[in-house]
Amino acid sequence: MRSANMHALHRRPPANGHTGPMTTPTQRRYEPWMRLALAEATAAEATGDVPIGAVILDPTGTVIATGRNTREAEGDPTGHAEIVAIRTAARTLHERATQADPTSPASWRLTDCTLVVTLEPCTMCAGAIVLSRLARVVFGAWDPKAGAAGSLYDVLRDPRLNHNPEVVAGVLEQECADALDRFFEGRRQK
Ligand SMILES: [Zn+2]
Repeated sequence: MRSANMHALHRRPPANGHTGPMTTPTQRRYEPWMRLALAEATAAEATGDVPIGAVILDPTGTVIATGRNTREAEGDPTGHAEIVAIRTAARTLHERATQADPTSPASWRLTDCTLVVTLEPCTMCAGAIVLSRLARVVFGAWDPKAGAAGSLYDVLRDPRLNHNPEVVAGVLEQECADALDRFFEGRRQK
């Protein structure tokens, strides 16, 4: 369970992290999409779900999927924003391919696509990210308690796995952390 003290928990990068108060041009480039992911995160609260949101971009930067936490909404322990978005993105790409060629075999690869998510992915989501062959993962806040992109584990950049996406951390980190802090603070007051 989440501890009572959520303050600052999502703001501490791991010791080997590169993020600090400075924002890099790479981080700034993904801010518009992170704002879309944040809107998804906010929408999750309507069903009592933890505000975590995600979007997936195709190589041209077009959003092909959105996702938000649906664990409470769907009663699904695997209903994390990343999983929801990955499933939708794969469906979108498959529909595109079959429109161009109805005999096109189903493709599950998200090659050259980018996942933008408000919180560092957990081990389940990091595993799904590797399996889906996403080219890049961009995340907002760190999750020192469960993060698998550098905090607790670094599944995404484990060289023993057959695929390693590029990782861009700390995009709109403060806003992403604030959304989570507000949610858990509101819960404690109930
Ligand atoms: Zn997850």
